[in-house]
Amino acid sequence: MADYFSEMGWRELADELNSLNGEKLPPPASKASVEALIDEKITQDGHQCPVCLKDFLTGDVVKIMPCKHKFHPECLLPWLSKTNSCPLCRYELPTDDEDYEAWKKEKKRAKERETDIENLHNSMFS
Ligand SMILES: [Zn+2]
Ligand SMILES: [Zn+2]
Repeated sequence: MADYFSEMGWRELADELNSLNGEKLPPPASKASVEALIDEKITQDGHQCPVCLKDFLTGDVVKIMPCKHKFHPECLLPWLSKTNSCPLCRYELPTDDEDYEAWKKEKKRAKERETDIENLHNSMFS
């Protein structure tokens, strides 16, 4: 009976959920990074919120991501409490999740190593 849950394959289920996303789903944006987002008052028409697809109205106060994309605060903030990237271009805000930040650094290092090897290869064979 003790093994009932393990027999149900909870592990596999978790693995399956992870693989659905291709890789780890990024954690929420850090509180500090969300608080640091710039507010802007809309002064001219013609822009649309990419989340709810409604036009911004003159006088609306919107949130601007570091990637310059603008959103209604009520559209952006719930999103950033789930995951850390811009809904439009996937620009990533810092997170409070140490594991994720470490993983991201490791990924970047791996990429740099790849580039180093490539450069080495090029310098030897060109
Ligand atoms: Zn919106
Ligand atoms: Zn963006």
